[in-house]
Amino acid sequence: MNKKLQMAFNEQIKNEFYSAYLYLSMANYFASRNLNGCSHWMRIQVKEETEHAIKMLDFLIKENSKVILQTISQPPTNFSSPRVAFEKTLAHEKKVTTLIHNLSNLAKQANNKIAHNFLNWFTKEQVEEEKNATNILKDFKTINNLSKIDNKLAKRKA
Ligand code: MG
Repeated sequence: MNKKLQMAFNEQIKNEFYSAYLYLSMANYFASRNLNGCSHWMRIQVKEETEHAIKMLDFLIKENSKVILQTISQPPTNFSSPRVAFEKTLAHEKKVTTLIHNLSNLAKQANNKIAHNFLNWFTKEQVEEEKNATNILKDFKTINNLSKIDNKLAKRKA
């Protein structure tokens, strides 16, 4: 793997950990408001994002590339409303989709088919991530009842 692609992978590992950090912060915010279903949903998100980061890290190891863990920024600690937190979730996932597409393009430019194929999983996963957040925001419009939404999100399976 060329150096530029290697650096970009390391950057994306950090981005995935930041996602986990952001959702952990949201889980804390929901827990502090006794929205335990929302908090539960976010805790599962944290696990998934951590798995994404480790999946990339394991790929670099398998490819004999260097893993250099980067500094993870502090996520916001407060959100103006539960709905805003989910709006931020969707906006964040859209940003991650762009980052994954950029990384995938970089792999393609480098003619690295193994890396490009590996990233296809992440491209598909981003479709799911955006869909999940979009569906919750739809519930805020249609159900428009926070405790009902909280009960629904409590049912999310790990
Ligand atoms: Mg992710």
